[in-house]
Amino acid sequence: MAAIGCHLSIAKGFAQAARDAASIGGNTFQFFTRNPRGGKAKELDEADLAAFREVCAEAGIEGILAHAPYTMNPCSAKEDTREFARQILAGDLERMEAIMPGQLYNMHPGSHTGQGTEAGIGQIADALNAVLAPGQTTTVLLETMAGKGSEVGGRFEELAQIIDRVELSDRLGVCLDTCHVWDGGYDVAGNLEGVLEEFDRVLGLGRLRALHLNDSKNPLASHKDRHEKLGEGHIGFDAFAAIVSHPALAGLPFYLETPQDELSGWGAEIARLREAVE
Ligand code: FE
Ligand code: FE
Ligand code: ZN
Repeated sequence: MAAIGCHLSIAKGFAQAARDAASIGGNTFQFFTRNPRGGKAKELDEADLAAFREVCAEAGIEGILAHAPYTMNPCSAKEDTREFARQILAGDLERMEAIMPGQLYNMHPGSHTGQGTEAGIGQIADALNAVLAPGQTTTVLLETMAGKGSEVGGRFEELAQIIDRVELSDRLGVCLDTCHVWDGGYDVAGNLEGVLEEFDRVLGLGRLRALHLNDSKNPLASHKDRHEKLGEGHIGFDAFAAIVSHPALAGLPFYLETPQDELSGWGAEIARLREAVE
């Protein structure tokens, strides 16, 4: 069965998040490692983690995706912001080993805040080289970005250049966000084959380890990054049906980050996607 889930809160613990995922037909989920605005991570609770592993086994949850706080910026022009990003990265990677070894950890590459893309790419690679260590089992994913403001990662080439400069690059992968690539100018609705070919040419499809499924409130190449519910934006549901049933993407986990007020909203999207896979 395809791994499909959505972004969930771990405010009530990992076991509850896994129960929430299962309650809406999900068999994976994404969570923020800490307050999305950064700050201190909550202590891990051993009893909760033990319960979490049990729920996962019962619910058929074989993998999860952590998401770094989106304010983490390893390529800020400010030295203390870069240093803070390294501390978050190092701390999160350590926690991932305790939560569940062998999982995925997604991060927005960063925003160069006026230093230029080239300098940003170098600083992101420096941060990864500083925190990746041979004993770690977590795969760090660089998310494809919409290219808004000074974001790095709006082009596949930029992610490839980061990966090229990281020593332990076998620990790295890419998470493709459909809203972001669409806003970045990659037409996943009209030319999915072309976008996947381009990804394969620049990064290699082997690097693709997860997808964020989001419709977009804006037209192609708008560089905005405003997510919409599946089928209610400019991408349209047909594209998502084609993505989840595409043979080149079979076996990859899919995560909804759509604006829903209740769990049932994601449940309905998951059900609709599962229907499309079959
Ligand atoms: Fe993200
Ligand atoms: Fe995303
Ligand atoms: Zn986004």
